[in-house]
Amino acid sequence: MAIVTGAARGIGAATAVRLARDGFAVAVLDLDEAACAGTVEAVEKEGGRALAIGCDVSNAEQVEAGVARVAAELGAPTVLVNNAGIIRDNLIHRMTEQDFDSVLGVHLRGAFLMARAVQRHQTEAGWGRIVNLSSAAALGNRGQANYSSAKAGLQGLTKTLAIELGRFGVTVNCVAPGFVATEMTEATAQRMGITFEEFTTRYAANIPVRRVGAPEDIAQAVAFFVREEAGFVSGQVLYVAGGPKG
Ligand code: NAP
Repeated sequence: MAIVTGAARGIGAATAVRLARDGFAVAVLDLDEAACAGTVEAVEKEGGRALAIGCDVSNAEQVEAGVARVAAELGAPTVLVNNAGIIRDNLIHRMTEQDFDSVLGVHLRGAFLMARAVQRHQTEAGWGRIVNLSSAAALGNRGQANYSSAKAGLQGLTKTLAIELGRFGVTVNCVAPGFVATEMTEATAQRMGITFEEFTTRYAANIPVRRVGAPEDIAQAVAFFVREEAGFVSGQVLYVAGGPKG
């Protein structure tokens, strides 16, 4: 069975539904358990099994308890998608320590804590898949010193875990999206004082395929790494951005 973090909405929700369609029972994990209800319903509509788990991925105790509950109620987790994320954008001279620490805490520490808890089940099973959500911002993005550091860090974490866990049949890969239409990018448009439509139109003009991404575009890429047939692909970063650059 699979755990998807930050699965109450956006890319995480689309990934949970996609993995359910591929035959996995899914733990829909997010900060607020009640907020997971919509995704659980969408998975069940696909004929899948889902469990809502309220858990802050940056909190070690909550992660241990959450993964233990998943194992008890849905079975041993062998697939982990580290997708939970936040943004606290600002230029370096205005970025607070709190802005820096909280973003690193959710993306990077969260992925570490989740992987540490789940790998016990994966190594015992002799099979597993970890997919971490990086970003095109890992290559650098104005106003995102915290976020780009976290997303580049995730690529290092991915490669090291691929080396450590390969012998147990566990692959570890990154999907690095470009612009995807979700509440996260809607919030950025709001902060810039423009409509989301104007924001996406402006972005799309510079993307080779001339459109922004949908959550399902990213879910497809995650599903590829999770497949049995992808077992020889590990430690890789796949940019899913409508072109070669983010
Ligand atoms: P989103 O719509 O903002 O969804 C993120 C989810 O993560 C929310 O439900 C959020 O819950 C949850 N979350 C936040 N902090 C958490 C924590 N400590 N523990 C558990 N869950 C937590 O974001 P998205 O656009 O779908 O992005 C998903 C992932 O893709 C993120 O890692 C993001 O950085 C990455 N990504 C997105 C884009 C893009 O263009 N959208 C591009 C590149 C990479 P709350 O609502 O309660 O905060």
